[in-house]
Amino acid sequence: MNAAGPTKGHLERLSDGKHPKEIVFVQCVGSRCNDNKGKSYCSKICCMYTAKHAMLIRDKYPDVNVTVFYIDVRTPGKNFDEFYRRAVEEYGVNYVKGQVGKVTPEPDGSLTVHGVDLLDNKQLKVKADMVVLAAAIEPNPSVRQIATMLTASIDTNNFLTEAHPKLRPVESPTAGVFLSGVCQGPKDIPETVSQAGAAAIKVVGLLAKDKLLTNPCTAKPDELLCNGCSACANVCPYGAISYEEKLINDHGVRETRRVAQVNNALCQGCGACTVTCPSGAMDLQGFSNRQIIAEVDAICR
Ligand SMILES: Cc1cc2nc3c(=O)[nH]c(=O)nc-3n(C[C@H](O)[C@H](O)[C@H](O)COP(=O)(O)OP(=O)(O)OC[C@H]3O[C@@H](n4cnc5c(N)ncnc54)[C@H](O)[C@@H]3O)c2cc1C
Ligand code: SF4
Ligand code: SF4
Repeated sequence: MNAAGPTKGHLERLSDGKHPKEIVFVQCVGSRCNDNKGKSYCSKICCMYTAKHAMLIRDKYPDVNVTVFYIDVRTPGKNFDEFYRRAVEEYGVNYVKGQVGKVTPEPDGSLTVHGVDLLDNKQLKVKADMVVLAAAIEPNPSVRQIATMLTASIDTNNFLTEAHPKLRPVESPTAGVFLSGVCQGPKDIPETVSQAGAAAIKVVGLLAKDKLLTNPCTAKPDELLCNGCSACANVCPYGAISYEEKLINDHGVRETRRVAQVNNALCQGCGACTVTCPSGAMDLQGFSNRQIIAEVDAICR
């Protein structure tokens, strides 16, 4: 129905270009599934955009019947419930509480939606010219590559993870990587814009400083013990470790060796390298292996 779109503003069925008279929307398709067939989370935006689409159709084509099958309508935003109620009360959209079991094709090109009306406790068959599915919103598969490149973490649903859901919602756990929009989870435009503004101001806060403070508890290699095996660099999630050929004075013996170097600005002090190094050459400043063992000894005494 977008005047600048491919149908020049006309509501048409994509398969044959016919104008549909009966439209059925099905909510929660692949969202809120408690089996392995879909996503367990609510996609958050579909209840509202379905109400919007239904109202737009009824406004432009009052002769078109619109039915919406829903599990429950989720309207947790400012004026959202009023918006949904307008769809029902002013625009006459027929909301049916119940799930759809199947959609079958008819010989005349229409579809039959087999659903259930839970409030009236009866089976329904609705003939439709067009069925619109509110499909689950999910991340682009390429997010894994991006997350690996940025050393940013992702959750089990492949959404990028925030450093703290309440206190640091637009920062990723990796310093200098900020999040906004649906890469972090399903959300609508107002929420995306607010998050984007917050992320931008966090970046400005960083760049406006003449000097940046970093965590002092970073890793430090003992160049005498390091054998340049690369084990630490392979486990460092932040790419903070590189190698340098250096002239080392090993108890009077001077030789050039490949030794680990830590970039203190990148190191997040996670300690992965310290437990990986086979030579015990890597230590966290302020939390060295010797200090931790001394603490454990003192506690066990
Ligand atoms: C059908 C539908 C209807 C909607 N209706 C509404 C509505 O009426 N009102 C409302 O408030 N919200 C609505 N939304 C939600 C709205 O679209 C989102 O809130 C908004 O688009 C989020 O913006 P974003 O920038 O985070 O993500 P997007 O708009 O999805 O932008 C992400 C961009 O990143 C690109 N991208 C992905 N992976 C890569 C990669 N590896 N490399 C480079 N680029 C990449 C994508 O191509 C895309 O252009 C609707 C969503 C859907 C699906
Ligand atoms: S927003 Fe509505 S339609 Fe979408 S998954 Fe959540 S409850 Fe279902
Ligand atoms: S402490 Fe963690 S972040 Fe720092 S160099 Fe070692 S593995 Fe990398």
